[in-house]
Amino acid sequence: MKIDLRKIYRFDALERLPDGGLPKGGNVYYECNECKVIVASVSHIKVACDCGNLTGGGGMTEVKDAAKVTPLKGTLR
Ligand SMILES: [Zn+2]
Repeated sequence: MKIDLRKIYRFDALERLPDGGLPKGGNVYYECNECKVIVASVSHIKVACDCGNLTGGGGMTEVKDAAKVTPLKGTLR
């Protein structure tokens, strides 16, 4: 099942960490620049973006290519 998180959250751009890494947290989401799918940075349900760059589940999200990811802060609408 696919949930469009944009219908639930308002997303604002988030700065990368000083070392260029991706921030992480309960209100942090990753947008895949390839397929534009948004995945939570801490995902307890099994999710994946369409191109496979982001895969989540079990409380973590794996990022294959961090350069193709935009970190976002999600706020409930
Ligand atoms: Zn993707």
